[in-house]
Amino acid sequence: KVRVRFAPSPTGGLHLGGVRTALFNYLYARHHGGDFILRIEDTDQTRFVSGAEEYINECLDWCGLTPDESPNKPGEYAPYRQSERKATYRQYAEQLVHDGFAYYAFDTPEELDAWRKEEPNFRYSHENRLQLRNSLSLSKEETTKLLSDGHPHTIRIKIPAEETVSFEDMIRGRVTFETSLIDDKVLLKADGMPTYHLAVVIDDKAMEISHVFRGEEWLPSAPVHILLWEYLGWKDSMPCWAHLPLILKPDGNGKLSKRDGDRLGFPVYAMNWTDAKSGDVTKGFREMGFLPEAFINMLAVLGWNDGTEQEIFGIEELISKFSVDRVSKAGAKFDFEKAKWFNHEWIKKTDNMEILPQIEGVLNQHGITLYQSDYVWRVLALVKERMTFVEDFWEQASFFFTIPDIYDVDAVKPKWNASKTVFFQNILHEFAAMEEWSASDLEPFFKGKIADSGMKIGELMMPFRIMLVGGKFGPDVFQIAETLGKEEVIKRIEKALP
Ligand code: GLU
Repeated sequence: KVRVRFAPSPTGGLHLGGVRTALFNYLYARHHGGDFILRIEDTDQTRFVSGAEEYINECLDWCGLTPDESPNKPGEYAPYRQSERKATYRQYAEQLVHDGFAYYAFDTPEELDAWRKEEPNFRYSHENRLQLRNSLSLSKEETTKLLSDGHPHTIRIKIPAEETVSFEDMIRGRVTFETSLIDDKVLLKADGMPTYHLAVVIDDKAMEISHVFRGEEWLPSAPVHILLWEYLGWKDSMPCWAHLPLILKPDGNGKLSKRDGDRLGFPVYAMNWTDAKSGDVTKGFREMGFLPEAFINMLAVLGWNDGTEQEIFGIEELISKFSVDRVSKAGAKFDFEKAKWFNHEWIKKTDNMEILPQIEGVLNQHGITLYQSDYVWRVLALVKERMTFVEDFWEQASFFFTIPDIYDVDAVKPKWNASKTVFFQNILHEFAAMEEWSASDLEPFFKGKIADSGMKIGELMMPFRIMLVGGKFGPDVFQIAETLGKEEVIKRIEKALP
């Protein structure tokens, strides 16, 4: 059975790369009718940020990537927080020592610091492990004594001196590593907590994980994990590996990192702590006004496509079309302008009723509290095409809710004359007498009146718009007039006339 996990460490907010990892795991699981598991990897107490786990949950909820099993929804593989699984790790570390694949290391942090001072490139490895203080360099008696004295110690993996570790990555094909270049990673820390390397393997085994999708930054750790699967005697149940391409800046250089002017280091939503990766960011994609559908769509095509030119995908379509074969191994470029384009497309696509509550929120923020929802709905239908974010509604449509105070006089004044004033004074009365009030009645009527006056269409259309809107923008002026209603249009012309 397909079982995949998203295994974040609660060390800060989730950024694009993290959510994309969650998304690809989710898509793979759903596509294959498998399970999507959330496991919290909180063994590094020094990097723990309180609130980060709630943040992760809320992000996944907002994105619609609901796990089948998680700390909040425990299944038969509970618990789903590594700190709560602490008891299980030591026995495996001891087993590895017993079987000769790991060893006790007694070097104190001070001793190791002294080494590092002497040799800036110090690595604890096959090259120097016999000069250090551990169960391989000490006699059996010395080791037993130190252990029974309760001397603080770690357990390190004994990486072989000259072997190659090779595996088939679902995205990258065959990948090979030389063990001579890998150091003897700590598996169990002096405080009894496992490191990521040990915990990840034990939990993937315990939770029967079939496929691991994770960021390319974990590729260098893969040989350590593969050796552990082997050393623990679990090689046959090892998951398939898939290391997802990095997310790059639009110019294609460098890893996705701190803010660089184009917001790609932004978290999914605002955090209430200062984040190491993105700095003091108070706004995330959610606050910027991204719709979750657009955000997910944008992430899905960061490193994946369906083999056609199609770019807009809803979640159901992503689930049915997702395939690892179409995940690229080259880094995926993130472009904020493109992200905005996705949002614009999704605003256009989304049913008005669905975004209506958010639109009403925007109105409330601007002090507009008395309105009828069906009026807001009609306005939305008119300006939707022009919006990138929900907030843009105000810029595009505020004149539907407040009578203009400021007019773009430069657009009309220079060419204004008495006959235009007369025209609008007359039209006021004509409008008042009209029985039908729709854009399709208004347009021929208004244009006919212009023709009768002997003036040009262009000379009077713009003033009409400015009187209703205040500026030179907005949708079709007759649609505006229809939506505002007859009384309001008359009121606005009266107010604007000199
Ligand atoms: N805890 C790791 C992280 O924070 C998980 C890496 C993995 O998926 O193996 O991303």
